[in-house]
Amino acid sequence: MKISQRVHCRSCVRFVFAALVFPVCVISISAADQTVVLKAARMFDGKSKSLISNGVVVVRGDKIVDVGSNVAIPSDAKVIDLGDVTLSPGFMDAHTHLTLDYTGNFNEKRLKEFQTNVSEMTLMAIPYARATLEAGFTTVRDLGSRFAGSPEFVDVALRNAINHGITPGPHMLVATKGIGATGGHFDSTGGYRDKLFGREPEPSDGIADGPDEIRKAVRFEVKNGANVIKAAVSGGVLSLADEVDTPQFTPAEMAALVDESHRLRKKVAVHCHGDQAAREAIEAGVDSIEHGSFMKPETLQLMKTKGTYLVPTLMATEWIMSKIDSYPPALQAKARAAGAARSEMFRNAVKMGIKIALGTDAGVFPHGDNAKEFALMVGLGMQPIDALRSGTSNDADLLGIGQAVGTLEKGKRADIVAMPGDPTADITATERVSFVMKDGKIIRNGLATPRTAAVQDDDVDLPAD
Ligand SMILES: [Zn+2]
Repeated sequence: MKISQRVHCRSCVRFVFAALVFPVCVISISAADQTVVLKAARMFDGKSKSLISNGVVVVRGDKIVDVGSNVAIPSDAKVIDLGDVTLSPGFMDAHTHLTLDYTGNFNEKRLKEFQTNVSEMTLMAIPYARATLEAGFTTVRDLGSRFAGSPEFVDVALRNAINHGITPGPHMLVATKGIGATGGHFDSTGGYRDKLFGREPEPSDGIADGPDEIRKAVRFEVKNGANVIKAAVSGGVLSLADEVDTPQFTPAEMAALVDESHRLRKKVAVHCHGDQAAREAIEAGVDSIEHGSFMKPETLQLMKTKGTYLVPTLMATEWIMSKIDSYPPALQAKARAAGAARSEMFRNAVKMGIKIALGTDAGVFPHGDNAKEFALMVGLGMQPIDALRSGTSNDADLLGIGQAVGTLEKGKRADIVAMPGDPTADITATERVSFVMKDGKIIRNGLATPRTAAVQDDDVDLPAD
């Protein structure tokens, strides 16, 4: 009797475990029988230089099985005619912070972070992830999730919960804590009284000095679930104790960072505003420069030669400048300097044909407003079709997932959005996405879920320059 009860209990446990962990598989298996056809007046395939008319995408299960203009529609298909819209691959954002929210008054936010349980902050990320997905961003590269004094890997938890179908959100590639130098942009004890936090941060906190410690930090982050390595190689705007453009790693440290990450088959994204740090990071072989505000034309030329991506995060500067009075004076000065430099840098990058991947720094501004980056890039000289490529196939290439997503092609994952009208005539159409499909599942067709108070949009009027 005891034995049979135990067997019964084990089966229950197995069933409950399977239901928790594999609901996405269950959904895709049942959806595999249903062929869905999306029709629209126009289509952007993610890579072409122009739109095509009468776009049709045939989806079975979680994959695109046919795509083009006026392709044959299977007789058993469910046809969804979306009308006067443009179909596009799901948007991507190569630079988000889905577990963080730095909008509002900076000092109030810092204090709140110290007062709030990390478990509570994890739950707060749920509406951020949903708002991002409903805005049409089906994949994000989440570049840093750290909470002072906490060892938790909240971004890993959120990524896994989304993958397991527990909560809606985009596909996430996560960086965990990110790696930086003592007293640098990522040292969250910087700017406070020494020993206030009990001890100096160490490689397991993401703070590392010297090639060996940096290798240890990379290994530690990969061990704990990082898909990509993020590092801060120059100072930053929203940190209290560093100058915005000074180098924070030596060339030997950057070489160790890149070598160790690439040996573990992880790409390297570096936060970098300063020109010298960017030059040294590009020479070390990083995969992308994030921000890049002060990069000179010679440094951009080096990027072009090496094939390094620029992820400009124009939205971050735009948001901070629109709320400049709510930041401490030291941060205001850094934001003004970076803001003044980055427009010329970006214009030069476009003119020189640097590879540019859309990335926003969401979390510095409200999650779900990511698509405003498209109009900012166009406002600084990028062609609308190139902005669309930047937020789809270029991102997929940078993230190393171009085989699976980023274009509307046979065999690719069915991550698809639709926006009203023609985005090459009005790029702000990207901000009004009306249809979102992820993994062949319709996330929304029409209105998005009203944003909760946690994801507020003050609707700041962002100038194009
Ligand atoms: Zn960032």
